Amino acid sequence: MASTTGTVSSSGSYNFKVVLLGEGCVGKTSVVLRYVEDKFNDKHVTTLHASFLNKKLNIGGKRVNLSIWDTAGQERFHALGPIYYRMSNGAVLLYDITDEDSFQKVKNWVKELKKMLGSDICLTIAGNKVDLEKQRTVAVEEAEEYANTVGAKHFHTSAKMNRGIEELFLELSQRMMERAQVQENERASSLGRAGSTRRNVVVVEDEEDEAAQTKSSCCGVAS
Ligand code: GDP
Ligand code: MG
Repeated sequence: MASTTGTVSSSGSYNFKVVLLGEGCVGKTSVVLRYVEDKFNDKHVTTLHASFLNKKLNIGGKRVNLSIWDTAGQERFHALGPIYYRMSNGAVLLYDITDEDSFQKVKNWVKELKKMLGSDICLTIAGNKVDLEKQRTVAVEEAEEYANTVGAKHFHTSAKMNRGIEELFLELSQRMMERAQVQENERASSLGRAGSTRRNVVVVEDEEDEAAQTKSSCCGVAS
């Protein structure tokens, strides 16, 4: 079973892998492009060639490097395997608030992640396209309640209007930092340093260098 590699380096910076999951066309690529490059495209975005984008944050004086993994459209062919999300510290499960089916798909992803990674991964569920509130078909209470029951946070986002996205990644990063710190402490105490409050952190750098993939187009019809 893959374990997470959220790492605290000796310099006190954090490296995390975050995967975006969700049905095709819910806005995964739009959310990551808005977050990292502050761009939005009304058409389906085909300009992203990398399989992940990096975002650097400073949280409470600590440097945090997020590698945010977007799919190259494989979700359309149900072809996303564990290779995509293994070693992830966090997952953002996205659905489209105007598409009930995309919310049901989130539940499948939660089951899959829990089965493969246990509770080692920080989960965030996000209802995207809240600018289309009038066309909402997924009830807010239902989504928030579901997130609660599986230990995930829930956010309301719009890549189009740039709503909720910074908040989502900030909150997720904070949770991943807390978890990484707990794991480091456990590691330190299991090495016989339980009495020390000072952390002698083991440096494990997480090298992500899978080949960049060319993004194929999806969403022939813009939603
Ligand atoms: P992906 O297949 O999950 O990566 O989805 P895309 O990012 O390609 O987006 C699919 C379609 O939804 C595109 O036409 C986007 O412009 C549109 N879209 C994405 N986010 C939003 C949003 O917040 N609001 C609205 N109205 N449209 C969005
Ligand atoms: Mg996409």
